[in-house]
Amino acid sequence: MVAQVTKRSKAAEAKMRQRILKLKMTEQNGRCFYCKVRILLPANTTDSNPYMATFDHIRPVSQMGITHEDNCVVACRMCNSMKSSMEFDKFKALFTAFIKSYDHTKVSLGKCSKYIRKLDKYYSNLST
Ligand SMILES: [Zn+2]
Repeated sequence: MVAQVTKRSKAAEAKMRQRILKLKMTEQNGRCFYCKVRILLPANTTDSNPYMATFDHIRPVSQMGITHEDNCVVACRMCNSMKSSMEFDKFKALFTAFIKSYDHTKVSLGKCSKYIRKLDKYYSNLST
């Protein structure tokens, strides 16, 4: 069986993302979906501010997640980078364990990713 994937043009996809981004910023009171830090709408696409709002698919695109408001949230750059293509529930479980030691201004992204990978390994060992 072949899954049906609707191909949108790049421009239409970008427009849709912009619309959902604004909608979710309002719904989430301008806060990151995961760590609840206050985030800002990006001034441009190369903005590297860690508090910048980024677009996140709850179910990753790599796992057939679609760009729709029910499958998308806004997250800060750091949470989004850490989540990467991880499944939402898994990330949430890992993240909850991590959130207390999490400081956007002090912890480097590399350190966070390393920690998340360590937890990920720990949790997958538990389930096997
Ligand atoms: Zn965050």
